Amino acid sequence: MEKEKVDLMICDGILLTKYDSEPFEGSVCIKGNKIVAIGRPSRISRTFKAEKYLNAKGKAVLPGLVNAHMHECLLRGLCEDLPLMSWLSKICLPAERALRREHMRAAALLNQLEMIKSGTTTFIDIFRFQEEVAKVVKISGLRAVLSCQIMDESYRTETIVTNERLVKEWNGKANGRIITWFGAHSPYTCSEETLLRVKEMAERYRVGIHIHIAETRDEVKRIKKEHGVTPVEYLDKIDFLKSRVHAAHCVHLTAKDIAILKKRRVTVAYNPTSNMKLASGVAPILKMQANGIIIGLGTDSFLSNNNLDMFEEMRIGSYLQKLYQTSASALPCREMLKMATLGSAACLDMDKEIGSLEVGKKADIILVNLSSPHLYPLFLRGPTNLVENLVYSANAGDVDTTIVDGRILMEDRKVKSLREEEVLRKAEKAAQDLYERAKSGG
Ligand SMILES: [Zn+2]
Repeated sequence: MEKEKVDLMICDGILLTKYDSEPFEGSVCIKGNKIVAIGRPSRISRTFKAEKYLNAKGKAVLPGLVNAHMHECLLRGLCEDLPLMSWLSKICLPAERALRREHMRAAALLNQLEMIKSGTTTFIDIFRFQEEVAKVVKISGLRAVLSCQIMDESYRTETIVTNERLVKEWNGKANGRIITWFGAHSPYTCSEETLLRVKEMAERYRVGIHIHIAETRDEVKRIKKEHGVTPVEYLDKIDFLKSRVHAAHCVHLTAKDIAILKKRRVTVAYNPTSNMKLASGVAPILKMQANGIIIGLGTDSFLSNNNLDMFEEMRIGSYLQKLYQTSASALPCREMLKMATLGSAACLDMDKEIGSLEVGKKADIILVNLSSPHLYPLFLRGPTNLVENLVYSANAGDVDTTIVDGRILMEDRKVKSLREEEVLRKAEKAAQDLYERAKSGG
């Protein structure tokens, strides 16, 4: 019998097709941008032949990780260990004010390079000059949801107009890898009028909205003072939450807030490292989960993290809840893997397409090298510890190969879609320039 031809075959790997499945030795076939077969190596090699073969022996093969909240920024490691307000006024806000289009391009290249190298295959960005980001996504090969971070600040270049242009020009582009949403920074930096305009436009174009909600105690205090209710209650009162909203943080919530989020089907991005670093607080993840709220995992920007390593984020996310709940069984590793794959995918309305390895789904796949001492010993039969090792011991550097939409973006740690050295050189130069401008007031 003639063998069926596919574009790519990942052979003899240790497959983990979904967060709750058991690992098994298998191969995966990819045709175009889709997974067309998954099975035991002998069956796959009997039935299929491929244009290209990837030997995955001794490597874990799993769905690409999905970052449910981040900003592609350019600076990191500057003005550290300051209280939140000084950190904001010393580095965050001046750098934002000074940010130009060319800085954003360099930032997008650097962030996307870091994501490819750390096994993140899809991300949602809410920040600035998003058309520059879209151009870089086209080249890098990643999958992205892009939204403008609209605020009422006068220096901002992100407005309803630029966000609408982004949606018109970029939604569905790059073979559907680029999705565009509307983005509002937060209920305290956007007026009611701005928020309602964002809602109206998102509904007009039938796309989602990304926003930060209830990140800090200060925010809650401020909204209570201005509107007499919590941020969630306020956003619900003005009907903002009737749109398709994906909210970052949601750290300071009341039981009533959680009920509202559930009722309005708001999805939430958990950003444990950023919340720890900025001493914002601990998000009530277990309460939200108990109420059936869909939760994804995000790194936030590397200015507040300080990297985009989703493996580290899974580990910290679990440990933080264990400490917070004083329960070592809180947020077990499978839950964290769910959050970083299907959970985040559901936050971006993509869980039917990505987040697990299934025939018919998009081929967004990563290979993780398991041969480092920190991932030994590995048990595959009887009790398996693969997920435990991936979540609690692995890190970005263990990712060996990254595939998005059927295209190999990195193989054996060599990035193919971007020129690594050039990206780093450009980022360094642009960051120096941004820092100088920020210091001198833009
Ligand atoms: Zn953020």
